[in-house]
Amino acid sequence: MWSTDPKNIEVSLCSGVQIVWKDGHHSEYTLQYLRDHCPCATCTNAHGTGAPAAPPAPFQMYKKVLKMDGVEPVGRYALRFLWNDGHTTGIYSFEHLRGICPCAQCHSEKS
Ligand SMILES: [Zn+2]
Ligand SMILES: [Zn+2]
Repeated sequence: MWSTDPKNIEVSLCSGVQIVWKDGHHSEYTLQYLRDHCPCATCTNAHGTGAPAAPPAPFQMYKKVLKMDGVEPVGRYALRFLWNDGHTTGIYSFEHLRGICPCAQCHSEKS
């Protein structure tokens, strides 16, 4: 069982988040990756389960550089990221963050 307790968290509002877990595992998330994995109801519905994924639009009117305006701790178990696109309802529990760790090791363990 992996640890979902962070030992150290480093947040860069313009590049991403790095977490070192108590079991020594190291996770690095880009902002885009975190935004794409927002666990809130709005985003998970938008991603959908049955709907065909829309191809990435090459020209997006609202395209601007994704940044975080801030991060707030939510109790002891989660972080809330405040995105510069106005989205602030995503509460990323450490369990969720550990579960979406993008490293090769975690991906191979899961599949
Ligand atoms: Zn969301
Ligand atoms: Zn990992």
